[in-house]
Amino acid sequence: MPGLACVRACRKSLPRSYLKEARRKAGPQRQRIGPIIERLAIEHADAAIALRFRSALELLVSVMLSAQTTDVNVNRVTQTLFEKYHAPEDYLAVPQEELERDIFATGFYRQKAKAVRGTMRMLLEDFDGEVPRRLDELVRLPGVARKTANVVAAELGEPQGIVVDTHVRRLSQRLGLTRQEDPVKIERDLVKLVPLPDWGRFPHLLIWHGRRVCDARRPHCEDCVVNDLCPSSRV
Ligand code: SF4
Repeated sequence: MPGLACVRACRKSLPRSYLKEARRKAGPQRQRIGPIIERLAIEHADAAIALRFRSALELLVSVMLSAQTTDVNVNRVTQTLFEKYHAPEDYLAVPQEELERDIFATGFYRQKAKAVRGTMRMLLEDFDGEVPRRLDELVRLPGVARKTANVVAAELGEPQGIVVDTHVRRLSQRLGLTRQEDPVKIERDLVKLVPLPDWGRFPHLLIWHGRRVCDARRPHCEDCVVNDLCPSSRV
């Protein structure tokens, strides 16, 4: 993964004393987290999920389909998919091969079709056909890992953790908010630092900052609104 490789490469190329000094200059995490969120929220006021959905069920299916592909691609597929499939029963009323054809363009269509149908079956059997709101219930659904569950819970207005994707991992490390590599451990660090009301929007801010400014290979530190709060700043 280029982002992680870059972070590792940057760390390796910098002397330990330099990193320590940069962290000291940037200040303690607890003092920086507030201004970091405030400034990124102004800079990326439009930061939000890019997937298009009209219901909790459409949200869940979109997030499941978004693995290993772009949100734009998922939106293209779901535009017609959601005209045909409205309720959990609809996904089970067709042969699996038909659903596979309908989601083919999102890639990994066999595994995704199987997971979506398994999830629909469990929604009907265990949750009265409704998408559960609790993280521990969401992760019981076939093919729904912690990241997907976190995205769904947050978009339904009930974040119970912080989504850690490739951008969130890279930026959290560069901003000195974590020294971990594993997403679960990074999330554990972030939930201790980020105020609860910001759990939902925080990943969006990092994702959009990662896409627009803090590029994996070439971060634009000179144009970054948090460069004075970032121990990895090249300015
Ligand atoms: S200062 Fe540079 S490394 Fe730090 S967040 Fe901004 S762009 Fe990324």
